[in-house]
Amino acid sequence: MERSRLIGAMQEILGPDGVIHEREQLRTYECDGLMNYRVIPDLVVLPESAEQVQNVVRLCYEEGIPFVARGSGTGLSGGALPVEAGVLIVMARMRKILEVDIPNQRVVVEPGVINIWVSQEVADDGYYYAPDPASQIVSSIGGNLAENSGGVHCLKYGFTTNHVTGAEVVLADGSVVHIGGGKAPDAPGYELLGAFVGSEGTLGIATKITLRIVRKPESVRTLLAAFKDTEEAGGAVSGIIGAGIVPAAIEMMDALTIEAVETTVAPGFPEAGAILIVELDGPEAEVASQFDKVIETCEANSASEIRVAEDDEERALFWKGRKAAFGAMGSISNDYYVQDGVVPRTELGTVLKKISALSEEYGLRVANVFHAGDGNLHPLVLYDNDVEGEAERAESLAGDIVFTCLEHGGSLTGEHGIGEDKKKYMPKMFTSDDMNVMQLLRCAFDPHQICNPGKIFPTPRLCGERPGPFHMHPIQKAGLAENF
Ligand SMILES: Cc1cc2nc3c(=O)[nH]c(=O)nc-3n(C[C@H](O)[C@H](O)[C@H](O)COP(=O)(O)OP(=O)(O)OC[C@H]3O[C@@H](n4cnc5c(N)ncnc54)[C@H](O)[C@@H]3O)c2cc1C
Repeated sequence: MERSRLIGAMQEILGPDGVIHEREQLRTYECDGLMNYRVIPDLVVLPESAEQVQNVVRLCYEEGIPFVARGSGTGLSGGALPVEAGVLIVMARMRKILEVDIPNQRVVVEPGVINIWVSQEVADDGYYYAPDPASQIVSSIGGNLAENSGGVHCLKYGFTTNHVTGAEVVLADGSVVHIGGGKAPDAPGYELLGAFVGSEGTLGIATKITLRIVRKPESVRTLLAAFKDTEEAGGAVSGIIGAGIVPAAIEMMDALTIEAVETTVAPGFPEAGAILIVELDGPEAEVASQFDKVIETCEANSASEIRVAEDDEERALFWKGRKAAFGAMGSISNDYYVQDGVVPRTELGTVLKKISALSEEYGLRVANVFHAGDGNLHPLVLYDNDVEGEAERAESLAGDIVFTCLEHGGSLTGEHGIGEDKKKYMPKMFTSDDMNVMQLLRCAFDPHQICNPGKIFPTPRLCGERPGPFHMHPIQKAGLAENF
């Protein structure tokens, strides 16, 4: 279909202000939170209802036009990266909380609803929504579902998949299906919801999502413990879990991360090689006794300082420091690349040592801030894009970190997804038979592969195309041309 006719047809579905087609405005959507990859979409549409999503998708299907869903665009693996000559369907106008059902502990939302709004909506009833990615003040429930997002409290409460009970989905041909059990505890038949959650927008577009909410715990206690290095802190993590305690969260930050956070939000963290934030929640008596055990374990692993949050304000300050960590990197480095791998908890110490050796070998600093209790690592590779070759070195170092995770029984991603970024690594983890099975599932949902194509699975590259981070063309660098 000719572009002008497509614009007209989309405007008929969405109204004139629901379609963005001017090149300068389209550039707003050229990347997600991973800025290394950029593609300007042909068209951006902003549906306000499931029916509009359905009509947009049906039109794309009839015309063979690929499309990509986008929530808030905070993804860190290029999952919402537009496809060339494709339509980007931005869900940000579908932001209604449709139903709150406290007796059934369910909330039904549109996909553009921001994560934290769910907890705010049910706070007065004594409930909250447990998955809490550090991006929770901006990332959408639709994006969380597609990435199976985690967060600091997922150690005890589980990832998004454990808190989504049903979804209404527009499939690639424009048909609408309901998967999962909704308000009922379970649904008969294949566990399609499990396949859909974490499918990174490749199996369809969620237009309505039912979430489980959980009761706020009777008691919450949080401490911050400082250690000489990540190894000692890792020893404390193993000790706590080994004692049979399942904290609500155990987060680790290394010296470089502490420096960055202190330069920006200044939570007053102690100077240390590593700090742990440990949070326990549950019945008062249980929390009190386990908290003493956590303190003992930190002391036994040579903690140089232990601070117990005296009130909600101090607790919030600990978390503010942790949740600001990614953004704070800008204060100590021009650019950074967030890696996301996961290893068995028992391998944390060894893998961290190897990351430190890789950092020396490549001559690039690596800051570590991660969900230690889950073994979910987030090494931040610091580099300067203005220095010739540093972006490539950073990407190569980040790749070696992933391989190290695999060598130690881990996985390519802990919670940020594969997207565009890590598809090249998929054959390192999966056999071609494994990937064929995944492709069969994908084809059952989307036989023509028009729904977020080119993500997750490695594709042959074009002749002469340089893989890896965004490279500015020399003519563009010289200010003589715009992005090619
Ligand atoms: C500072 C920062 C901190 C972060 N911390 C965490 C963290 O602690 N834990 C964590 O897991 N992630 C974290 N992330 C990553 C990111 O926030 C999550 O992946 C989040 O779930 C993405 O949501 P989004 O709305 O921004 O989705 P987008 O980035 O817009 O999209 C992500 C994927 O979801 C798909 N998608 C979006 N909406 C739909 C829909 N309605 N139906 C089907 N597919 C859809 C897209 O196609 C894409 O593949 C962080 C990111 C940043 C920038």
